[in-house]
Amino acid sequence: MSKKQTVTTITPLFSAETIGNRIREIGKEISDDYAGATPECPLHLVVVLKGAFIFAADLARAITIPCTIDFIHASSYGSERTSSGNVAIRHNLNVAGRHLLLVEDIIDTGLTMQQITAELRALQPASLKICSLLDKPEARKHPVAIAYTGFIVPNTFIVGFGIDHNERYRELPSLGILCS
Ligand code: 5GP
Repeated sequence: MSKKQTVTTITPLFSAETIGNRIREIGKEISDDYAGATPECPLHLVVVLKGAFIFAADLARAITIPCTIDFIHASSYGSERTSSGNVAIRHNLNVAGRHLLLVEDIIDTGLTMQQITAELRALQPASLKICSLLDKPEARKHPVAIAYTGFIVPNTFIVGFGIDHNERYRELPSLGILCS
């Protein structure tokens, strides 16, 4: 007996080359803005797992000032392509007095970023800014101030370059819209 198959296609959005060029631009902008960073007082990247891991790896190598890297785990999407409205955040950060740059994959409704920034502010960092590879302003329900944005995207479901659907497609070197 044959199982019913759904055909999934990915419509290309940004090529690996376009993404790489944009990340180099953002890396330069960040390096200029934090030019006062030193090995004793570096910029501290806080990477939101899992979706931002590839973006963060490229961004860290595009930044030319001293920086350190930490990770925070957040999940707001279940197996469906809609926001669950619940954000589970796990971290073990000690960031008091440090200059933090949160590195995120996509800002959609803004709920995840609002909750993460509230938690991190309570830890009393010296400063806190947000860098997101993608921004979907049409989907916003909770206001978020994004200091550095890779690309503004339409309100569609995006995969690739670290960003998944049910753990698939993270390995794709480009970004695309998942259609089925
Ligand atoms: P928000 O809390 O802003 O609604 O959602 C943020 C998180 O939802 C992102 O970090 C990402 O993990 C997930 N998300 C939002 N939009 C998309 C999308 O288009 N594709 C995928 N794969 N995840 C998304």
